[in-house]
Amino acid sequence: HWQKTPKPSWIRVRLPSGEAFQRLKDLMRSKSLHTVCEEARCPNMAECWGCGTATFLILGDICTRDCRFCAVKTGNPGLNFLNLKEEPGQVADAVAAMELRHAVITSVTRDDLEDGGASIFAETIRKIHERTPGCTVEVLIPDFKGNLDSLKAVVKARPDILGHNVETVPRLYPLARPQAAYGRSLRVLGVVKEIDLNILTKSGVMVGLGETREEILDVMKDLRSVGCDIFTIGQYLSPTQHHLPVVRYYTPEEFESLKEAGIRAGFRWVESGPLVRSSYHAEAQVRELRTR
Ligand code: SF4
Ligand code: SF4
Repeated sequence: HWQKTPKPSWIRVRLPSGEAFQRLKDLMRSKSLHTVCEEARCPNMAECWGCGTATFLILGDICTRDCRFCAVKTGNPGLNFLNLKEEPGQVADAVAAMELRHAVITSVTRDDLEDGGASIFAETIRKIHERTPGCTVEVLIPDFKGNLDSLKAVVKARPDILGHNVETVPRLYPLARPQAAYGRSLRVLGVVKEIDLNILTKSGVMVGLGETREEILDVMKDLRSVGCDIFTIGQYLSPTQHHLPVVRYYTPEEFESLKEAGIRAGFRWVESGPLVRSSYHAEAQVRELRTR
């Protein structure tokens, strides 16, 4: 039985406004590109778009998986006509026109494609580097079903940050991410470092799905054991009543305490807060960690 837990006062969303924001919105429409910022109605849109960071969703908007916390449409993307080969150029054009300083590229999971869409990720990174050399590029990738060739193809295109979210603690995988595997997700992050130590790796969890603090600390240890540099922790917000309910809202103090625990665990950067999403403050991370 689904019962809505009332949202506490610290979950406040500022509505996006301003000229820069409107310009980006119009541009997305004109190129028919998808951004996660819009699709997920991300609470940080005003801040991110205002500062020239946006997250593009490539490979279409229909996912082959069915995570119980995610609002993206599920189904057979093959039925949806999309010219994937043109997508890298279109995204790179948009990044250039938007004069972005940091572009985040992510996708639905495409278990139906042989390489999981890795070649399109790689081409998108290359095209952005070519057209906007000053713009740093972050990719937030699916697990490619553990396909090493796919992973290598993305790493070779040299993103500045490679992210792959573990999303929750392993005990809750069957409930929240039935088609994923915790160990496989850790391996994705570990293999990236084995191939190229210079790429910053990043992962994150949503809290409020029923995990314990101890379990979160164990996830931190596991991520550090595969060399993960950046960790993000945000509050899970149930998209609709058909998704998993929020078991608990963490207080700002609890987020602060988890951040301290993350720094003690050895991450080079931890973002932790009620509205934190994996690309939140991403530009600051890459600028700061690159100069250290
Ligand atoms: Fe977009 Fe990420 Fe910023 Fe949200 S946090 S607005 S998804 S760039
Ligand atoms: Fe959503 Fe990603 Fe899960 Fe697909 S794989 S349902 S996009 S979280």
